[in-house]
Amino acid sequence: DPARLKVRLSERSYDIVVGDGLLERAGALMAPVLPARRAVVVTDSSVAPLHLPALRAGLEQAGITLVATVEVPPGEASKSFAQLEKVVEAALAAGADRRTAVVALGGGVVGDLAGFAAAVALRGLPFIQVPTTLLAQVDSSVGGKTGINLGLGKNLVGAFHQPLLVLADTTVLATLPPRELRAGYAEVAKHGLLQGALWDWCEAEGARAVAGDPAALAHAVLESCRLKSGVVAADEREESAEGGRALLNLGHTFGHAFEAECGYGGTLLHGEAVAVGLGLAASLSARLGFCSQELPGRVIAHLQACGLPARIGDLPRSFSAERLMTRMRKDKKVRDGAMRFVLLRGPGDAFTTSEVPPAAVMSLLRDEG
Ligand code: NAD
Ligand code: ZN
Repeated sequence: DPARLKVRLSERSYDIVVGDGLLERAGALMAPVLPARRAVVVTDSSVAPLHLPALRAGLEQAGITLVATVEVPPGEASKSFAQLEKVVEAALAAGADRRTAVVALGGGVVGDLAGFAAAVALRGLPFIQVPTTLLAQVDSSVGGKTGINLGLGKNLVGAFHQPLLVLADTTVLATLPPRELRAGYAEVAKHGLLQGALWDWCEAEGARAVAGDPAALAHAVLESCRLKSGVVAADEREESAEGGRALLNLGHTFGHAFEAECGYGGTLLHGEAVAVGLGLAASLSARLGFCSQELPGRVIAHLQACGLPARIGDLPRSFSAERLMTRMRKDKKVRDGAMRFVLLRGPGDAFTTSEVPPAAVMSLLRDEG
């Protein structure tokens, strides 16, 4: 039987179901929460040939009518107003009404775009996530954030729109390119460092997940979703600057700077940037005396053992410390001009601070780069 997690929100709760072979049973799993037996599936043209047939069969088996399927091109560029318009128009032209569910079948790009389309079409349609990347299963499908990008920056237009259900079918991860699987694992390691016991599991078993072992992947997805959904339930709309969802930015202040320097959708995957960011966050924590001197070495060794870059020197190019600093000062999470970092006292003990001396960050970037 698949595992089920309940996410308790202020207005209502929903389930995250984790297991293998869920697409074939998707209709039966969705039927109890659907307002009507009608759905629009949004996917991308890489995922569609691989996994749409199983989902379609699963929906048909439960008598759920597929009103329309909308395919967008794969990649970050599809989080755009142009694709949003395409999705909403296709859904409404096919006869979707306020009881028709939007089902996102794909990675974080499809989930963010389809979720935002569901949030704004007819002022809100029911939404179901069927994440197909490890990143989407452990991170983006949980928490209700949806949105698209502007030329000015990523995720600048969006809405909170919580799903009715998340179906994380670990079978579909078998077709994911290994580099995408490794990148998604960086968020598992992040959740591990935030949670504690999950970090111990990562060090012992995480490499098996990265190698594609189904049982290890199922554990990684379930425990990641448990951590993230708990954090999200306590801070639904990211209202806390100090605790709550802000802790999920561990490794991301640094990570976003590397991503921005490389250009989004470019040579560096988000998870790879986060992996380097986790190594730097641990190193900064040790330099400032918050955690043991050995923690950064452990974090870096584990990520590297999983085939991820964990130090600036592991990246395929060099970076200017000054430029990275400028990027971090422009991060949208910056308040009152002070860079905010998530630091570690140890695994399971993270905190946010905006009191890190810029000189300490600068010398870390210089020494590591
Ligand atoms: P993605 O959606 O672009 O997927 C990566 C690639 O894998 C794509 O080419 C896709 O076609 C392909 N793919 C997907 N599933 C596959 C499968 N099972 N087999 C083979 N190929 C498959 O990228 P992603 O890493 O899943 O998501 C990144 C996006 O998620 C970013 O836009 C980011 O902003 C967003 N995100 C959102 C949140 C949130 O809370 N909403 C959190 C983190 C990230
Ligand atoms: Zn991330």
